[in-house]
Amino acid sequence: MSALRPSNLPKLAVCPCYESHPVAGPAAERGTLLDTAFRAELLGLEERFVIANQMTSDEIAAVSWAVSMVRAISGHERVLAREDDCRVQILNLTGTADAIVPTRLTHFDLKTGARRNYREQMAAYALGLMGAHFAGQWTAHLLFCDQREVETIHFTYEEAHAVVDQVVKAFNDPGKNPSPCEYCAWCAKADTCPARLATVGKTLGVSEPGFDFDAILADPEQLGAFLSACAVVEDFQDRARKIATERIKTGGRVPGWKLVTRKGSEFVDCETVGHHIQRLGFGPVLAAYGNLPAAKFRDLWRQRMPGDQAFPESSVKAASPTTYLKQTTTQSQSH
Ligand code: SF4
Repeated sequence: MSALRPSNLPKLAVCPCYESHPVAGPAAERGTLLDTAFRAELLGLEERFVIANQMTSDEIAAVSWAVSMVRAISGHERVLAREDDCRVQILNLTGTADAIVPTRLTHFDLKTGARRNYREQMAAYALGLMGAHFAGQWTAHLLFCDQREVETIHFTYEEAHAVVDQVVKAFNDPGKNPSPCEYCAWCAKADTCPARLATVGKTLGVSEPGFDFDAILADPEQLGAFLSACAVVEDFQDRARKIATERIKTGGRVPGWKLVTRKGSEFVDCETVGHHIQRLGFGPVLAAYGNLPAAKFRDLWRQRMPGDQAFPESSVKAASPTTYLKQTTTQSQSH
């Protein structure tokens, strides 16, 4: 699949060499699941109940919110949500919007996870939809369902064309250079990109002939030294993040970084749950809370049970052991 497609445009706008990873990570898989649920809900498909079984209650609420936003913004107008109806073709690029309301010259795109820039992708959809519907302007509504926030972007044909054209030109430039950015971790070239490896090499103090990650992975000595260096960098990174946060909070600048405020997660306090527990049923409520750490159950037992009531050791269960890597010695980072 070509790197040049609408969903990649925001990434290509910051690094013209970006290439999406062929294997979708958990965040992308979640995005696809919620997208499918969103479409099914808008279309009133029977399969929406089956899809909902694969989602958490938070995810179901997030999709319901997005659907209610579409209904509120589109009023009684017809909403197109079938993939075939939402396919967009622009300047040899093909993409699929999540929902379109042609009579309002508008489309919707569901977004999951952290709030990011999607302007270039929306410009591409707007451009294609203006062409398909003979319109001179278009409105994109981004539905950030995890934050319950809507971002609305209006485009004229000229504006949308200029935004897309700039990214396409940079992508097609034979002299383009990679530019390390926030999308590197998702990039198919993440382990081999010279610009990124140069940054890592510089940070970890790797000397000439440069940073050869494959060679490091193949050599146990180098692998150990590399992990030790990473541990040091992680430690410094924590402190650097704190300092940068303070600096920006107090009006200073840290080029390439900004502060983002994330909405706190929603919850129901235990007193309220207790108030409704008779009607909800003890079993379902306890199942929703999940397992209690054995230490907490011991404490509870000690506080609430008569002293002669022995603790039921047989009720304590152990989860499967987990394996993790632990540093045993601090090595010199030179190798
Ligand atoms: S890994 Fe390289 S090519 Fe990929 S986004 Fe980062 S800088 Fe660009």
